[in-house]
Amino acid sequence: MIGLQVGAVSFVDEGTGQVLDILQERGAVNTVFLTTFTYGRGLGGRQIPGQPFPDHGKQESDEKTFHGGNYATPHSGFYGQTVLKQTRAPDHGDLDIVATVLPAAKQRGLKLFCSIEDVFRSDVPGVREVAEVDLQGRRTGALCLFHPDVRAFWAGLATDLCRSYDIDGILFFNERNGPLLNALGASHAQNIASSRVTCFCEFHEKAAREKGIGFERAREGYRKLDQFVQAALADQRPSDGYFVEFWRLLVEYPEIIAWDRLFDEGKHRVLAEIKDAVKAVRQDLQVGFHIEHVNSFNPIFRATRRYDELAGKADFLKVVVYNNCGGERYAHFINNVGSTVFRDVPREELLRFNNHLLNYDQEAGLKDLATAGLSPDYVARETKRALEGVRGKCRVLPGIDIGIPTGRTSRKASAQDTYAATKAALASGADGVIFSRKYSEMPLANLAAAGKAVRELRG
Ligand SMILES: [Zn+2]
Repeated sequence: MIGLQVGAVSFVDEGTGQVLDILQERGAVNTVFLTTFTYGRGLGGRQIPGQPFPDHGKQESDEKTFHGGNYATPHSGFYGQTVLKQTRAPDHGDLDIVATVLPAAKQRGLKLFCSIEDVFRSDVPGVREVAEVDLQGRRTGALCLFHPDVRAFWAGLATDLCRSYDIDGILFFNERNGPLLNALGASHAQNIASSRVTCFCEFHEKAAREKGIGFERAREGYRKLDQFVQAALADQRPSDGYFVEFWRLLVEYPEIIAWDRLFDEGKHRVLAEIKDAVKAVRQDLQVGFHIEHVNSFNPIFRATRRYDELAGKADFLKVVVYNNCGGERYAHFINNVGSTVFRDVPREELLRFNNHLLNYDQEAGLKDLATAGLSPDYVARETKRALEGVRGKCRVLPGIDIGIPTGRTSRKASAQDTYAATKAALASGADGVIFSRKYSEMPLANLAAAGKAVRELRG
């Protein structure tokens, strides 16, 4: 499977037939991952504001017109059990992107998957009622995955798309992290948000009670963690040092870990429910999950993700191995954890130590990491780790970075870089690749280089 992620706006701007021709001819693509549901700009919309446009599509920012939502037609019968009923994306009038692209894709022999992503906005009707509650008792703009209406929404959306359109399956994206990672900013683009961790709503309280986890103890633990983080950022070193103080918190408040795990359970239950919903429509429809970048460079997060367990919930895993933007993202992670838990460790040493834990080899030092990016060898290693991890229980499709936006001084991949990354994934035994994040960011030369690698390795 050679897939590519593309949003509605590209078909509107460039024409359905023309985009599909480019994907096939330049990228050797045989599967379209059509962004059907998201309120986020990572998968939807044109190039993100402030970044240079690629050499195709409208050269004009959609910052003011981008809204997001469901770019297909929501059929009301599937949303009876949820308050999230009004999600139709208004960006392109009455356009139904799945109904538009599907016949043209079929005519060309392309498969089509609907990509759906858990990114919402707080002004969508119903969101306020089903949003998470943070440590201070405030509603956030993100959905609580324990709320029955939220679970009913995802199952309803997956069922709607699979019943209403003759598609090949669903790819589900949920990059949200639990409270421990959020408190430490231990992901790729996160700020340290220790006072805003979630979720302390009534449904979480109920789930915790059923598992014998103390709700108040969890809240107290996260308050102490917040104090630890804020003191670290203010350079107030605990007498026993940062790491010891952090570890002591985990020992004294095991509820910190338990609450983080509870988030994962909610997230993974939604994955399982989406799979069940899709398979209930037709057994041969395929379900894939996007496995976020933090899984690659945060060893604590890695410990919470068993590939073989995830493999049981999906037909394929899209494992993010974005190497070009990976440099600045990894540096960001090291700087964040180096500001709190590992504040006593010189940053360069922390990076080298972490490289050993992750089985990274020969990557750039911290100072040069953003400008160097991660290597094709990183792509190969992470592909092999995933293939070993799933133990043949599902397919592994590495997500390949083509033009994912980076900071002004950070590395921009050349066509040769994209060729090398694609080749590294396929030569490592991957079952295919998915070009990411979205066509509206991709320079055509890089797409063609990726296609060249596919043709050389697949004949
Ligand atoms: Zn909740």
